[in-house]
Amino acid sequence: MRNVIVVGGGLAGLSALQRLRARGYEGGLTLVGAESHPPYDRPPLSKAVLAGDTEGIALPADWEALRCERRLGTRAEALRLHDDRPGGVLVTPDGPLPFDGLVIATGAMPVRLPGEGPQHVLRTLDDAERLRDSLRAGARVVLVGAGWIGAEVATAAAGKGCRVTVLEAGDAPLAGALGPELGALTAGWYAESGVELRCGVRVASVDPGGLTLADGSFLPADAVVTGVGVRPEVGWLAGSGLEVAGGVVVDGSLRTARPEVVAAGDCASWWSERYGRRLTAEHWDTALNAPDVAAAALLGQEALYDPVPYVWSEQFGRMVQYAGHHAAADRVVFRGTPDGPGWTALWLSGDRLHALLTVDRPRDMAQGRRLLARGTPVDVDLITDPRTALSGA
Ligand code: FAD
Repeated sequence: MRNVIVVGGGLAGLSALQRLRARGYEGGLTLVGAESHPPYDRPPLSKAVLAGDTEGIALPADWEALRCERRLGTRAEALRLHDDRPGGVLVTPDGPLPFDGLVIATGAMPVRLPGEGPQHVLRTLDDAERLRDSLRAGARVVLVGAGWIGAEVATAAAGKGCRVTVLEAGDAPLAGALGPELGALTAGWYAESGVELRCGVRVASVDPGGLTLADGSFLPADAVVTGVGVRPEVGWLAGSGLEVAGGVVVDGSLRTARPEVVAAGDCASWWSERYGRRLTAEHWDTALNAPDVAAAALLGQEALYDPVPYVWSEQFGRMVQYAGHHAAADRVVFRGTPDGPGWTALWLSGDRLHALLTVDRPRDMAQGRRLLARGTPVDVDLITDPRTALSGA
């Protein structure tokens, strides 16, 4: 392989460049990224950046050592794969770029609500800077969606003295990620921070001056922030022949049906051996680590991406961490009481641990992730005793 293009200049794209070189790839390397900023870290956007601190968000990279041509501010428009041989051409506004290896790392884009009114989303540094300017003391800020990002933006907006209302269509915050029972345990955090949380509320449209709700009522707002989820950024692959279904469809080694094309990060839907199903994860940990496997696959080396998914969130002064996949669990047990300052919830079926959620219990998370990775049976009495280590057997 002599000419690899990485499409997408986020964490997964940069990691792919770094891992390709670290794995000994010596050929040509080009980064095509739609944003004009060099790769930067997104988690601070909803935390430090909204609070006013943009220091240190650039991702560290030794560009000289990477020997990479950077085409930033360039959006790939289409992909044409050769029928008769490996490789193809990336269609860009600067003209066609040929390749014999391709990494797709185009991430995800926020879903927007219908309506003509202005709405903020939060995905890019430019989004964050625009939103930060709207978070003025006393401003009526309405957030739609009480997911991971909604909770973090509510934290930042309340911290700046805004009058914050969060509208959530589900029965509880984080209901999509954790289920309504566990999500409900976070509801009190909103009130504690002076944020009004309204669950079971559907928004019909964002209109000038506020929002129209599904019941026909109008809620005035100085700023509306939509945080109702993301979709993989894969529209540009239409007509390429690659399978796209909730993300770029790849195997456990992150290869598409064309071995010279791999995908990693938020845009990929990979086959998980561990869970026996396809997974997508819009999490930093995946964007950081999956590209190593994608790089190996591209270079014809053996590697399998089979992690225990992990996400963290900083909300209302708490460190909230989740690891695993709880779809197959049939019960939840606690270490510590959920009304205490720090606690851990464990999703189980029989003596199998499927997932855990920790609130200000980083040690439980570190130990729990090891337990989940081992996948061995656990002693339920032992792991629910907060006086003992979460070691399991
Ligand atoms: P992205 O970071 O989205 O990068 C994709 C890049 O590709 C973008 O720059 C995009 O412009 C570019 N691109 C798209 N289409 C094209 C095209 N056609 N041609 C060229 N370039 C293109 N995760 C956690 O685990 N914990 C957190 O606390 C956390 N906080 C977050 C806070 C915010 C505000 C956001 C937005 C995300 C957060 N995440 C968090 C998620 C994490 O940041 C993402 O999972 C990660 O950034 C995904 O990286 P990626 O490289 O796959 O995609």
